Amino acid sequence: MNLGLYGHEDAWIAVDCGMMIRQDLPDAPLQVPSLETPEALGIRPQALVITHGHEDHIGAVAWLWPRWQCPVYATPLAAGLLRAKFLERGLADGAIRVIEPGEALESGPFTLRYLPLTHSIPESCALLIAVGDFRVLHTGDWKLDPEPLIGPPVQSSLFRALAPVDLVVGDSTNAPMPGHSRSEGDVARALEQRLAQCEGRVVVTCFASNLARVLAVARAAERCGRRVSLMGRAMERMVAVARGLGYLDDMPALVPVSDLGYLPPAEVLVIATGSQGEPRAALTRLANGRHHSFELMAGDTVLFSAKAIPGNEHQIERLKHALRRLDVAVWDEFNHPELHASGHPAQDELRTFYGWIRPRQLLPVHGERRHQQAHRELAESMGIEAPLAPVNGDLIRLDGEGLTLESRHPQRPCIVSQDAVTPLPGLTAERGSPRHGILHLALSVASTGTGWTRIGRLMMDAHRVSAMDEDSFTEWLDERLEEVEAETLAELRTALQPLITSWLGQHLRQLPDVHLQLIAVEVPAFR
Ligand SMILES: [Zn+2]
Ligand SMILES: [Zn+2]
Repeated sequence: MNLGLYGHEDAWIAVDCGMMIRQDLPDAPLQVPSLETPEALGIRPQALVITHGHEDHIGAVAWLWPRWQCPVYATPLAAGLLRAKFLERGLADGAIRVIEPGEALESGPFTLRYLPLTHSIPESCALLIAVGDFRVLHTGDWKLDPEPLIGPPVQSSLFRALAPVDLVVGDSTNAPMPGHSRSEGDVARALEQRLAQCEGRVVVTCFASNLARVLAVARAAERCGRRVSLMGRAMERMVAVARGLGYLDDMPALVPVSDLGYLPPAEVLVIATGSQGEPRAALTRLANGRHHSFELMAGDTVLFSAKAIPGNEHQIERLKHALRRLDVAVWDEFNHPELHASGHPAQDELRTFYGWIRPRQLLPVHGERRHQQAHRELAESMGIEAPLAPVNGDLIRLDGEGLTLESRHPQRPCIVSQDAVTPLPGLTAERGSPRHGILHLALSVASTGTGWTRIGRLMMDAHRVSAMDEDSFTEWLDERLEEVEAETLAELRTALQPLITSWLGQHLRQLPDVHLQLIAVEVPAFR
């Protein structure tokens, strides 16, 4: 759920405006950034600048932009996706301005340049933000892919020419990982090799936004003598937007799903949505035999060309179980890791990139605490100062002295429900009891198979809350986690809520408004 605000004197711009899915709430609603803090501080951006078209960067624009009504700058693909979202909400799309990778724009005192990088969606760009005496590189999401399949590889000269920058605000997602991310080119070759060994029909599931992957699968299919069909609305929409922009011109012709029944199994390949086990997605319908014109059977293969997003493991397992029951072979990130590539930089890439731009300071963003921490350590080993690991709501100053934390503003969660953005109500207590202050709890958990366990630090943000003993609370919470019976994050949350309220009721003088967020994290050791 990315939203960054950059200010100089009284002028502000916003960078990205994304959403997240709250897996721990019933019906998994969308959460969007809260505008309470910027509005209280009198911050209203005069432009919104989008780095790329992933939902965690554009998903909240159609919800929050009406409060700003400012120009929205985006590269062609992200702009196309945004227009569809504006249309869906009945908003006029006149504010959306297309900017090509490589171009520059000016907004008040800010000069911004879009610098093309590679990522798991085309046209991802870093932003060079020049204002006052400072030059800041906001990386957005990136990796160094020598063979991205769509778009050019990263041009090192473009970035070397910027050195040294005052500050890099950088992607921390894979900072704990040694080495280099896999290239889309390598994934394409692995896919073709695997596909050549399949006999029955094949379904490949991947993220619709990874157009390079969709293209690679389709081309591999063609070379293996298979016809390609798309399944799932998100896949069809993404491919339509991309085709309108001239991407996928060399993609083989598609056949409608309804025609697949006329083809021999060895000539069929379907690219489907649903790699995360989403209950309404195409692959789940196939696995449960609920598709009107296509039925999976023994001898067919389903290939997951995507990684599980933390929190989705249970529903993905359920999906794979349903597939195996049909005697369908399942290939995934565990038995065939070569069939997927991450879109984020591992340590070698971070070192190479920082060697080009030679930043004086780093602000690690886009990741959890441990990712930010690993990112800081890597930077410091290169002589780059990294004094802060920001949390959501931090107001940070950059001046001649470097980075300092100016103030911290706990963020109230905002949920999209019934076509409106509303603050998420806190945990309910006994009727009529007045609340004092707000307590935000963010808890990273992993499923151990038999129960749950806390991973990393319990994040607590107390605002006007009477003093509490954090250690004994954490200890108590860990014990509850072990014994609670819950299959999903939503169930875990439902079970924990009343327990937490009653503990706080017994240990605090006054009961605060409590906002609990459970975040699932991956722990490979438990797999
Ligand atoms: Zn992202
Ligand atoms: Zn991204």
